[in-house]
Amino acid sequence: MKNTFTKARFLLSAANTRDFPADQGAEIAFCGRSNAGKSSAINTLCRQNNLARTSKTPGRTQLINFFKLDADTRLVDLPGYGFAKAPQNVQKKWHMLMESYLLQRKSLSGLVLLMDIRHPLTDIDWTMINWSNHYQLPIYILLTKADKLSKNQRIKNLTKVVSSLEQKGFDIGVQIFSASKKIGLKQAEEKVCSWIENALISQSEKSPG
Ligand code: GDP
Repeated sequence: MKNTFTKARFLLSAANTRDFPADQGAEIAFCGRSNAGKSSAINTLCRQNNLARTSKTPGRTQLINFFKLDADTRLVDLPGYGFAKAPQNVQKKWHMLMESYLLQRKSLSGLVLLMDIRHPLTDIDWTMINWSNHYQLPIYILLTKADKLSKNQRIKNLTKVVSSLEQKGFDIGVQIFSASKKIGLKQAEEKVCSWIENALISQSEKSPG
């Protein structure tokens, strides 16, 4: 499975549901505030420098970008958020696109939420967590740019995030991550791989042959 990450290729960008690729197999979506480190994390997982740059192309930042791993598996780069100053119609479009994706996508097998370890759990991060809960989607959190903090401070911030989630009744996996220093790469990779593998296994059990 891990090798398929290195084969990741840009598939397409979608502005609405009818542009989504066929809803089959399994895909894992990455979400987070703009600048949280989403593109860097996708590039690092896929051992490629420019893969997720596609999503930075002007005009593509508010689109859903699909990357093909193999015939039946994909990674998905969801549009960044945190644009409080963006015009109302842009925010509304973002909401509609995100909700239609999360609501409809049968192959969506897990959501990776990226948050800068120095600024975690903003209002809009809670919105994502609540959505995942609402749509019963597995969610996993990467606290990014861990290299910017000392080891002690990383653990402190991680513990704080875990306890804030617990206080609100969420049992969500959280880990420390750094794309530039490859901290937590193996753990993140294992999570994404296991989600994909389990989704494919349960699909094959449901429709043998
Ligand atoms: P996105 O908007 O969420 O896709 O974020 P990017 O991946 O483009 O990263 C935003 C900024 O944070 C860029 O300047 C990156 O170089 C920087 N960045 C991303 N990941 C890391 C990391 O692990 N460590 C450090 N120090 N900087 C990072």
